[in-house]
Amino acid sequence: MRMFSEIKDQNKVKTILSNLISTDHFPHALLFYGPKGVGKFLTAKAIVKYFNCRNSDPKQKGNDHCSICSRIDEEIYPDLTIVRTEKTIKKSGEEKEAKEIRKDQIKEVMKIMKYKPFEGEYKFFIIDGAENMNNISENAFLKTLEEPLPNNHIILISHNINKMLPTVLSRCITIKFNRLKENTVLELLRKKYELSSEETERISFMANGSLNGIEFLTENKMADEIISVLDAIIECIAAKNIDMEALFMISQKIHSLQLNYLDHLFDLLLLYLHSSYLTTVHDAGNSRFFKYYLNFKTKNIKLNSYNIIISEVIKTKFYLVNTNVDVKLLVENLILLIRKNIL
Ligand SMILES: [Zn+2]
Repeated sequence: MRMFSEIKDQNKVKTILSNLISTDHFPHALLFYGPKGVGKFLTAKAIVKYFNCRNSDPKQKGNDHCSICSRIDEEIYPDLTIVRTEKTIKKSGEEKEAKEIRKDQIKEVMKIMKYKPFEGEYKFFIIDGAENMNNISENAFLKTLEEPLPNNHIILISHNINKMLPTVLSRCITIKFNRLKENTVLELLRKKYELSSEETERISFMANGSLNGIEFLTENKMADEIISVLDAIIECIAAKNIDMEALFMISQKIHSLQLNYLDHLFDLLLLYLHSSYLTTVHDAGNSRFFKYYLNFKTKNIKLNSYNIIISEVIKTKFYLVNTNVDVKLLVENLILLIRKNIL
């Protein structure tokens, strides 16, 4: 469908949504979930454009850059409400992002729903980062998700549905987004950045099918620092004797990182473990992670330990991001656990 022309890959998602659109009963509550940076938000906007654009040519509808479509793109269209965690500027000029979507933000959505649409026939609500709703917000939203007032459509977007209440999930039609194909990432990189072919290949691998990954690795000054923390972790895992001082430095460093950097760090750690697994299974010695990134060899992890380790990594990340647990303890435990499972 033309309306999805800006969205890369995700063919299954496009088919499902096209089918839903062609029925007369487009769902009132949708949940798009999957990794960050794979097109969930762009797809949500494409739907809003499709339903609001007045182009009479179905092929052009939502894809004609008319004033409605442009305002939706710019997020200034009155019948589109986007809810996110709020950002405030601190006195120092630094931007501070709230951790949660608060109940009063959800109450505001419910209030707007009661009004008629300003311009079109429908009102759309995108909850971007739905995992950031706290339990109170989620509970306040339940009834609305189940029976929204007519002509209101809600699209929840999440990269972490484990954090969401099952009662919220069960009230939505859920649609899963996958990581982008490596060729797609390569193409995007070549188009947007002037990098050597070696660097393009390295980044397309490490971005792991996510635009977020690409942007982070190419544009963010912190990327090198995050990679050096990862280096230190891997070195600590592979060292013959545990270096307590290095371990302490790592946990200190992780403690000081902002949340979004933790995401990137843990994504890279998971990519490393996956590559290490492939190397062990295929005895490939030239696994791509090592080819593109690491110069030193790491020891093999016991094959039957990967499941435990990966679930520990995911759990550790979850606790680091969502709780006030002692960071040092968590990180040290994780590294020691991986070390214990080395052959
Ligand atoms: Zn339009």
